[in-house]
Amino acid sequence: MYVSSFIPFLNRHNKRRKFYIDARCHPQTIAVVQTRANYTGVITELKLPHEMDFSGKDVSGVLFQYPDTEGKVEDFSELIERAHQNGTLACCATDLLALCILKPPGEFGVDVVLGSSQRFGVPLCYGGPHAAFFAVKENLVRMMPGRMVGVTRDANGKEVYRLALQTREQHIRRDKATSNICTAQALLANMAAMYGVYHGSDGLKDIARRVHNATLILAEGLRRAGHKLHHDLFFDTLTVTCGCSVKEVLDRAALRKINVRIYSDGKLGVSLDETVNEKDLDDILWIFGCESSAELVAEGMGEETKGILSTSFKRTSKFLTHQVFNSYHSETNIVRYMKRLENKDISLVHSMIPLGSCTMKLNSSAELAPISWKEFASIHPFVPLDQAQGYQQLFKDLEKDLCEITGYDKISFQPNSGAQGEYAGLAAIKAYLNAKGERHRSVCLIPRSAHGTNPASAQMAGMKIQPIEVDKNGSIDISHLKAMVDKHKENLAAIMITYPSTNGVFEEEIADVCDLIHKHGGQVYLDGANMNAQVGLCRPGDYGSDVSHLNLHKTFCIPHGGGGPGMGPIGVKKHLAPYLPTHPVIKIQTDKDACPLGTVSAAPWGSSAILPISWVYIKTMGAKGLKHASEIAILNANYMAKRLEKHYKILFRGVRGYVAHEFILDTRPFKKTANVEAVDLAKRLQDYGYLSVCKGELQEGRDRLFRRDCGDRIRGNGFKHKEGTFRLDIRKKSFTMRV
Ligand SMILES: *Cc1c(COP(=O)(O)O)cnc(C)c1O
Repeated sequence: MYVSSFIPFLNRHNKRRKFYIDARCHPQTIAVVQTRANYTGVITELKLPHEMDFSGKDVSGVLFQYPDTEGKVEDFSELIERAHQNGTLACCATDLLALCILKPPGEFGVDVVLGSSQRFGVPLCYGGPHAAFFAVKENLVRMMPGRMVGVTRDANGKEVYRLALQTREQHIRRDKATSNICTAQALLANMAAMYGVYHGSDGLKDIARRVHNATLILAEGLRRAGHKLHHDLFFDTLTVTCGCSVKEVLDRAALRKINVRIYSDGKLGVSLDETVNEKDLDDILWIFGCESSAELVAEGMGEETKGILSTSFKRTSKFLTHQVFNSYHSETNIVRYMKRLENKDISLVHSMIPLGSCTMKLNSSAELAPISWKEFASIHPFVPLDQAQGYQQLFKDLEKDLCEITGYDKISFQPNSGAQGEYAGLAAIKAYLNAKGERHRSVCLIPRSAHGTNPASAQMAGMKIQPIEVDKNGSIDISHLKAMVDKHKENLAAIMITYPSTNGVFEEEIADVCDLIHKHGGQVYLDGANMNAQVGLCRPGDYGSDVSHLNLHKTFCIPHGGGGPGMGPIGVKKHLAPYLPTHPVIKIQTDKDACPLGTVSAAPWGSSAILPISWVYIKTMGAKGLKHASEIAILNANYMAKRLEKHYKILFRGVRGYVAHEFILDTRPFKKTANVEAVDLAKRLQDYGYLSVCKGELQEGRDRLFRRDCGDRIRGNGFKHKEGTFRLDIRKKSFTMRV
């Protein structure tokens, strides 16, 4: 969850350095926000509303949660008014299902509303993937990161939607970007949207009412059994002080295989969701020693018990009024609607996708099958570890394999994307340097060719960015690098490098570059998004890197068409292991000298539920297969470069004349000669449904390459072979620049 996406509002030049957090937010939300604020130099203070003083006009924002972590529904209008009077923005974390029947935060003056859309039909998934949402008042819209969809008219005057801003912010604004998010949760956002489309506002209200009614019945039963409820107004969550022994309740809960939240002061918490049925209520009542069944309790309650629906918190405004939410309420209709949308897409099942996503691989059905198993999908991220031993085993296996592949010593699975991995890895570097007493080290060297997320992440980790020039071969300009290292040697924190470079070249000097940085007290962050050209062949940990993220949604087969989900675990050398992320609810840092950088995701192991995909990929490929896939990727890129070199200029090659796993064709001359641009070529390729399939014997093809004699039996762009899956990528100044 990108719960902390709203932090960009606290821009660095703002004089208001303070940010208040209501102590009754979820602990994981507090941890993520505190960590994020810590690296950007914002001072957070944990308080209750009545303790919050805005009069110094030094507070930029205040975050509270509605309903709060104990389930309480409360009126925040007075707090918001005080905040607004002093120029402070009000941010509210909330629950979408509750808002179907609760007065929404926008109606009591909140400026920024955020939360998870998991409750809209997405399984718990041991923490993720889930899409977060983030909504603002009209006056703040232009400050939101990411891309906007606008309504416009097409050539025939029909209303259509289009992207208003086509390029991601971090690629244009680099270190000035307000967000580093690249891979997001597009698939999950679509799932939640379809849940809304299918149920419509009436259906959603029914679901919310049902959950609330079940909670009211439970509350009544618990009161009758002599327990104390902490809050009178709630939606789906109760906080209880037991009238009997807590141990007795917990023992009975274990018998019925029900988990309750246990607070440090002995209070217990119970939350219900859409799936709750009468049997569940009976079980929970029994656990708490209530003599009656849910039915009997309900009978005794009568009609007048309506909970929040009989208070001023009841929602009166309409929502989801657009036609799309009021048209597809049967299974056949929603399926036809989804199919109609799908038919508008050009995807790999039709054609090549001219998308520069580096080394995204095709994935097999066998890799995807396990993620729908309930053992992976229906498990809460905060269950006791002994209930999630399968996951724990999977994490261990995957960590071991990824360490072996990368040459690192420890992996953190908390980051949900490559960009989030960058932020976590750089924060680990910062935490390490701080612990060494070198807090002043904050300069991060980043070549101009780096992916846009690099400078954006470095900025989020509180570093100052020094760009490094690129030479005519597309490699780091070593003399400029040396000059900048010398200039910043006192304050050098890190270098972020991509290897093979973004221009598709294995740089000869990589080990020397790492040495140079280390000699001057800096750390090396190697952007491992594109391990495609390295897996099985070379390891960042061996040639001198200290930390990398791996894009499991590129090199390790998690499908991420449409923009996400992804997983961006980071690997680190031993000395950085103590600084890896921690979690406020589940103990995940096992290093005995742990001194964690903080928390980067609300879920302890990020988007755990998609890790089985990479696990299956690695296990089915095996060491030989993985290496073979890398070789084939490099072979194909070189084959294509060779075949095309007579017709196009190949922009960059290594000193030996070879490219890595990708290369750049210069199409700029055609602009002059034929008024044809890269985007025209890309579209023409699509017209031809360009997706060629590997037909040749791979071994034979590889031998030919080594004899510098490329036959034409291996062709490939996005092809798949039974022993390995790989994709050749032709990007940047070629086909993707303007797409
Ligand atoms: C894709 C990519 C990233 C960003 O990864 P996300 O998962 O999209 O955040 C960073 N660096 C490089 C080189 C990449 O290709």
